[in-house]
Amino acid sequence: METVAELGFSTLGLHASLVEAATALGYEEPTAIQREAIPPLVAGSDVLGQAATGTGKTAAFALPMLHRIGASDGSQRSVRGLILVPTRELAMQVAQAVHKYGRILGVAVLPIYGGQSVQQQLRALKRGVDVIVATPGRALDHINRGTLDLSTVEFLVLDEADEMLDMGFADELEAIVEKVPKARQTALFSATMAPRIRSISKRYLKNPSLVTIANETTAAGKKPRVREVAYVVQRAHKTAALARVIDMESPTSAIVFCRTRMEVDDLTETLGARGYQAEAIHGGLSQDQRDRVLRRFREGTSEILVATDVAARGLDIENLSHVVNYDVPSSPDAYVHRIGRTGRAGKEGVAITLAEAREHRLLRNIESHTKRKISIESVPTAHDLRARRLELTSNALEEALEAGGLEKYRTLVESLGNKHDILDLAAAAVKLADQARDGGDKAEPEIPAIAALPPVLTFAKKSAASKPARLQNGSAGMTKIWIGLGRSSRIGPADLVGAIANEARINSREIGAIDIADNFSIVEVSSGLVPGVINALRGKTVRGKKVTARLDRKA
Ligand code: AMP
Repeated sequence: METVAELGFSTLGLHASLVEAATALGYEEPTAIQREAIPPLVAGSDVLGQAATGTGKTAAFALPMLHRIGASDGSQRSVRGLILVPTRELAMQVAQAVHKYGRILGVAVLPIYGGQSVQQQLRALKRGVDVIVATPGRALDHINRGTLDLSTVEFLVLDEADEMLDMGFADELEAIVEKVPKARQTALFSATMAPRIRSISKRYLKNPSLVTIANETTAAGKKPRVREVAYVVQRAHKTAALARVIDMESPTSAIVFCRTRMEVDDLTETLGARGYQAEAIHGGLSQDQRDRVLRRFREGTSEILVATDVAARGLDIENLSHVVNYDVPSSPDAYVHRIGRTGRAGKEGVAITLAEAREHRLLRNIESHTKRKISIESVPTAHDLRARRLELTSNALEEALEAGGLEKYRTLVESLGNKHDILDLAAAAVKLADQARDGGDKAEPEIPAIAALPPVLTFAKKSAASKPARLQNGSAGMTKIWIGLGRSSRIGPADLVGAIANEARINSREIGAIDIADNFSIVEVSSGLVPGVINALRGKTVRGKKVTARLDRKA
């Protein structure tokens, strides 16, 4: 039987094994950037793509690259695919993705980045690899040592090219691209199409197909009353954060969108374990199963649907109290389409999005597309949840008072009232009611996930999207961090930007003014990201020197 994924991915011209790999990963259909970039790449054209992280762009170039490399029996490997990325974090992530998609073809991939042992990289290079994912600095090191031969490269990708330029890698890129044969295929991806990007794409690409995610305009005049909120959390803590947000919001009818079937199944289970009536909808269900799930949801037997985009499409479910995006949707249109299911018919709706710090650009894209602000909030704390529970208990007590029928309890209250203060007595009754609300069906006395959640990163509001000028002081929304390395350690601004962006996995745009003194430096970072940056730098080295970082005392 053909699944939805096979139908969606099989229209792109990819090798059947790659379609199978995507299906096995639970991808139900290609994302917008994949739909647009894969066919020209498979046909052998160069592509200039505008897409940020989170849009599925890795697969958009990795699948066609693997398609070109084809099955590898491992006997004679040479570097046929080269992917250049700005940070080591991205190098690892992209290499993992290529490995996932290409395992079925036997393709060997190697990430190469600074900070990793050169010996280990040399051994792996000697054994032979088909695809290399590298940061420009380390790739050039290897080229200069004569340990990386690029003369067999057929497919070159410059990923997050704007970031690489921002990090000062223009010269390295030039030197590396020069070593790659001219008769190659090239894909360049960038979140922006700044003039610098157009200029390098003119030099490195041949008649590229231009691929951007189309921005359809929203139907005017229909302003929904939707509260739009995003929470920025680390990937590892997303499930806990989602559970807490749901506890706080107590939705009556919600849909939670995820990317893959596996995520749908996992979240349905997690929410179920917390006492919610949650049901899964994905492309793997039969028509009968889907109908049953939908009936229960419409009747109110279940309160949360967890779904992939594809499965939810065409479903006649509207007037939801909440729409939750477990990940930032891969395009502004997808976001608008999803949240259109809430805030209907003059009712208030809530649209919630969980985002990782690295996905902030997608949120900004959405904001500039919808011309509405998404409010970035902190994940509710234990205290918030307790307060919320008490509010629900108080509402329930008022309803019970209004409903009447309390006569049979009055005798008990009177007799206890002879022995105890009547206020104490009422407080004890409220305590029992409140505990029952938490402990009863959810069987969770103290909400354990709360202590485990790290400080939540939030974005500082910046006045304009433009880049803050370096080597200036006092930008709005920025906080100064003191770093114990300065000119005497031969530290330059690029070292600091590189270290912070790499270690804290933040975009270099979140870094503002940098002031380098002899023995220390002061770096401005978007205020909400400060705890994460300080934590991430702890114990790390820059130019071989250990970093100490803390809030600037004068800040
Ligand atoms: P990227 O923008 O490449 O960082 O991808 C973001 C996330 O989307 C990754 O976790 C991918 O595994 C996932 N992803 C990529 N393509 C698809 C797809 N067609 N369907 C569902 N998830 C996808």
